[in-house]
Amino acid sequence: MQTSTRNRLLLTRSLAAVWHPCTQMKQHEQLPLIPVARAAGCWLYDFDGRRYFDAVSSWWVNLFGHGNAHINAALRDQLDTLEHAMLAGFTHEPVVELSERLSALTGGKLGHCFYGSDGASATEIALKMSFHYWRNTGRPAKTNFVSLAGSYHGETLGALSITDVALFKDTYAPLLRASTQVQSPDWRLAEAGESPADYARRAAQALQRHLEQHHATTAALIVEPLVQGATGMAMYDAAYLREARALCDRHQVHLIADEIMTGFGRTGTFFAHEQAGIVPDFLCLSKGITGGYLPLSVVMTRDDIYQAFYDDSVTRGFLHSHSYTGNALACRAAVATLEIFEQNQILTKNRQTAAALTCAAEGIARHPRVSHFRNSGMIWAFEVDGSDASFARDFHQRALDKELLLRPIGNTVYFMPPYVINDEEIALLTARTLALIDA
Ligand SMILES: *Cc1c(COP(=O)(O)O)cnc(C)c1O
Repeated sequence: MQTSTRNRLLLTRSLAAVWHPCTQMKQHEQLPLIPVARAAGCWLYDFDGRRYFDAVSSWWVNLFGHGNAHINAALRDQLDTLEHAMLAGFTHEPVVELSERLSALTGGKLGHCFYGSDGASATEIALKMSFHYWRNTGRPAKTNFVSLAGSYHGETLGALSITDVALFKDTYAPLLRASTQVQSPDWRLAEAGESPADYARRAAQALQRHLEQHHATTAALIVEPLVQGATGMAMYDAAYLREARALCDRHQVHLIADEIMTGFGRTGTFFAHEQAGIVPDFLCLSKGITGGYLPLSVVMTRDDIYQAFYDDSVTRGFLHSHSYTGNALACRAAVATLEIFEQNQILTKNRQTAAALTCAAEGIARHPRVSHFRNSGMIWAFEVDGSDASFARDFHQRALDKELLLRPIGNTVYFMPPYVINDEEIALLTARTLALIDA
């Protein structure tokens, strides 16, 4: 198909004026940007009607498809009422309703919601809150943070300090604060004959050794519950979270659950930590929170932590703000997203969708070049063996030729589709991916 003038013009203007994220811009001399003219359901379209199946939910944010009718209607209504008002000293219906609903989803255990604008800001908020809690309660030496090997918590300086993905971190290392990474419970690291749960418990021993020595100076452990996304969809047994919860309790260290990606049903339960039967001290949410519509994040915490800030002194209060904290449009989109979960039994439906996709992907799982095929809720991942350094880029490019938006991480290919993926789309995604691996 010929590329139209409209497509070409947009690409030229974008390359001149827009500095794209996570991109070596020079590579676009060879690989064209994809113009998105519009989107509907799981599909992105360019100006010529070429289409791409959004198998990564537009960087893990979309839940119910592009142009979702329910979210659209809620936003239209909100636009005519209130688009935004500052949240310091003021409040509004969408932010209150969202906070009440989120709290209810934790059984009221995490009843206080502090808002940010993106995932990294939620990480920063949780780190600052944890530290400030210990300071307010007479433990100012607790200033350090522990994360898992291979963890990803965002790329602003504080969040990057506890992230452990070399590509994002190494260049900026001189700007970062020291933190500790402990062994990851990623089950691919288990020894032959060792179950994922056994390996998770063994990995927890490394955390135990660290906390026994350093608890007096450690504020918090931060984890991505069940799935470490950006390192390559490393999955692990819930036993690790139970061990980590017990160790954090024993050593008076906070447990921060970074569910920025795993929240909102991605791993099968509404929150991933539910599968371990634990409650974190801080819960970070973003990405799917607005159904993929608008930037919004939140950190939720317990009442006794909140109470440690409640005082006559201003500086015992939490000192943090963003201009768009609690944006009314974003909160309304989030409320609409939660309504969809409730009204359509999404978690139950997702179990059927997941079973169908896993079944359709059998040929991929059994392919001789594929290893570690794995699934958690609405996430699937596998490694393609014998691939070289340019695999991710080549695969991405060849996938686009087959109308698929896939962005492998190293030699890890993953599917993280919108929850509205239908049977036909499941067949298309799995058959075309299998053909790509064959080629
Ligand atoms: C995406 C992500 C973040 C960062 O969120 P941004 O909105 O990109 O800043 C943090 N933690 C996890 C687990 C993520 O997947």
